[in-house]
Amino acid sequence: MNQTASNTADLVVIGGGAAGLMCAATASARGLRVTVIDPNQKLGRKLRITGKGRCNLTNNCDVKTLLANIPGDGRFLYSALNRLPPEAVMAWFEERGLPVKTERGSRVFPCSDRADDVADTLLRECRTYGVSFVCGRAKALLTADGEICGVVTDEEKIACRAAAVCTGGLSYPLTGSTGDGYRFARSFGHTVVEPQASLVPLESGDDWCAEMQGFSLKNVTLSAFEDEKLIYRELGEMLFTHFGVSGPLVLSASAHMRHMDSRKYRLEIDLKPGLDEKKLDARLLRDFEKYANREFKNALVDLAGHSMIPVLIRLSEIPPDTKVHDLTREQRQRLLRLLKAFPVSISGKRPIDEAIVTAGGVNLKEIDPRSMESKLIRGLYFAGEVLNLDAYTGGFNLQIAWSTGYTAGLAACREE
Ligand SMILES: Cc1cc2nc3c(=O)[nH]c(=O)nc-3n(C[C@H](O)[C@H](O)[C@H](O)COP(=O)(O)OP(=O)(O)OC[C@H]3O[C@@H](n4cnc5c(N)ncnc54)[C@H](O)[C@@H]3O)c2cc1C
Repeated sequence: MNQTASNTADLVVIGGGAAGLMCAATASARGLRVTVIDPNQKLGRKLRITGKGRCNLTNNCDVKTLLANIPGDGRFLYSALNRLPPEAVMAWFEERGLPVKTERGSRVFPCSDRADDVADTLLRECRTYGVSFVCGRAKALLTADGEICGVVTDEEKIACRAAAVCTGGLSYPLTGSTGDGYRFARSFGHTVVEPQASLVPLESGDDWCAEMQGFSLKNVTLSAFEDEKLIYRELGEMLFTHFGVSGPLVLSASAHMRHMDSRKYRLEIDLKPGLDEKKLDARLLRDFEKYANREFKNALVDLAGHSMIPVLIRLSEIPPDTKVHDLTREQRQRLLRLLKAFPVSISGKRPIDEAIVTAGGVNLKEIDPRSMESKLIRGLYFAGEVLNLDAYTGGFNLQIAWSTGYTAGLAACREE
């Protein structure tokens, strides 16, 4: 990263992630002198690992669908999404030489399948318009008469009339997001909704999870319950781990679990979602006819994965040595219920540093949704995950970063 920053700027962007780079690119292209501060030598560090290195950069959907994928107060985003909706994000990257494609679930990726290309496109745009980069950490923001007038790093003080806090949340802190933005916000009297992990693996006290660690399930339906109320149901993939469960379905389910302290959560896995109970019973009868002379413990090979069979046997409470032809209807029903609703109780979420995204953050009530400007301090903007906004998987979290970063960048120009 070059260190060409002079110590004055119109706008200082704190954080060179998705939101910060979009904010810097937008403001600099409109003539503002912009400085980006970030401790990483290579900017967009988290962006470069998104989507398993492919970057699911947005979702090719309308604003209504987008808002349905934001569990909190998505309406805050109306204005920002109008300014930069998903189709405008796609066009933004394409116009700058990065073709994109839409895959299953309307997820958008660069055609190159390289997240690095997304980060590099943003950086190129910033460099084209003369953005200065400082490798370091912002330590404090300075104000005079209720307006931003500077940003202090370990090395220097940069005088400015606007600052955009784009410091991300608390997830994956090795990428640089360590929660500094919350501290800055609080120092000016903002309230911060307690950060918590979202899109995160789940812990279970059920010993059978650890017993099956490494075993993955495809084409299963996962249902999540909060105090017995169904809060999530989806078909897909998941896996068992030494602490509980993980994988795409589990991460998505976790985003619906917002009250770990006060509510009880549990999962049910439908291992045979293609068969209703009647069809599955007929299938069990066929299997049991085929293996009529075997012992029960040796009769499940066509029904379940190798790692799961001992667990199914134990949970069914059917003595393993029972001859299949001696199984009762009631025992068969018990097995059927396990296959349609395999139970996993949830004891908690994995720590926030393992989460894909941080829920909670700077209170939206204190931010102007048309500009992302603080209602308390003039010239202070917030964008991206530092805000009390998060979304489900599908490219929605980056869409939030683009739209809010873009809106803050535009607004900083209007103040000029
Ligand atoms: C493994 C993984 C995969 C993901 N995949 C996807 C995906 O495919 N699609 C999707 O939509 N979302 C995805 N996400 C979520 C998405 O990456 C984030 O929501 C998004 O990056 C948030 O952008 P941001 O700019 O707000 O924060 P960040 O990208 O976290 O950037 C914050 C930046 O601020 C800097 N910073 C922090 N404190 C300071 C300070 N004091 N001074 C200077 N700089 C500072 C950090 O170094 C960092 O570079 C993924 C997340 C992870 C962890």
